[in-house]
Amino acid sequence: MNKRLEMIRQLLSELEVEVNATTATVGDRDFSALELPLIVQEIVDDLQPLLEPYDAAFYWFLFRHSILKDGNPHLRVSTRSLRRAVVRSAYSSAAENTISLGKVQDTLRALETVGAIRKEGEPNRDGTLYRVLIPEEIEACRKFRSERTASESELFIDNANIDYYNTRQNRIRVFERDGYLCRYCHKQLTRLTATLDHVTPVAEGGDNSLENLVTACLDCNSRKNMRAVGDIPAEQ
Ligand SMILES: [Zn+2]
Repeated sequence: MNKRLEMIRQLLSELEVEVNATTATVGDRDFSALELPLIVQEIVDDLQPLLEPYDAAFYWFLFRHSILKDGNPHLRVSTRSLRRAVVRSAYSSAAENTISLGKVQDTLRALETVGAIRKEGEPNRDGTLYRVLIPEEIEACRKFRSERTASESELFIDNANIDYYNTRQNRIRVFERDGYLCRYCHKQLTRLTATLDHVTPVAEGGDNSLENLVTACLDCNSRKNMRAVGDIPAEQ
């Protein structure tokens, strides 16, 4: 009887590994290396202000061992190993300066409450499976961002002259209007490779209005600037 129970237990744990392997790859977005700088910016801008210092340290640790490591947002962690691995305790000067298990659990709970991590299954011997979320997937971050950009755009409405060039949020609106396609060579661009080009150059009285800005790749943008300046040859 015990032997059969042991077999069932063994099969269940194998099954769990398989299920985890599947959920970790199917339906997940791939994180490309090019996206990482932007994700890091968003973590600092939109998530970190919502976290306590310990929570932020834990988030960075979990992020480093999941998305940053191989693009997979899932990882299994045990509270025991997190006590030593993440950060030193601020409350003890002992050489063995680990933070308490209770503090680790509080911190994980705080990250779950914000929505920065999500438990994906029951704990086993090796710890608990978590999914690490990035700011664009976290409701609280999206809210925080939209509140901030709302107050930013109020400033610009007061100005009556909306600047689509110098504000990141407005620049993105131009890219989105153009579908991230270069207006000149129609190359598909991303948030990281798209640049803004003034249709009428600033030197000729062009402004930063939506009408005077188009999405361009770096090549077309610099080639056009060369032409606008006129007497600088493209290659020297
Ligand atoms: Zn182009």
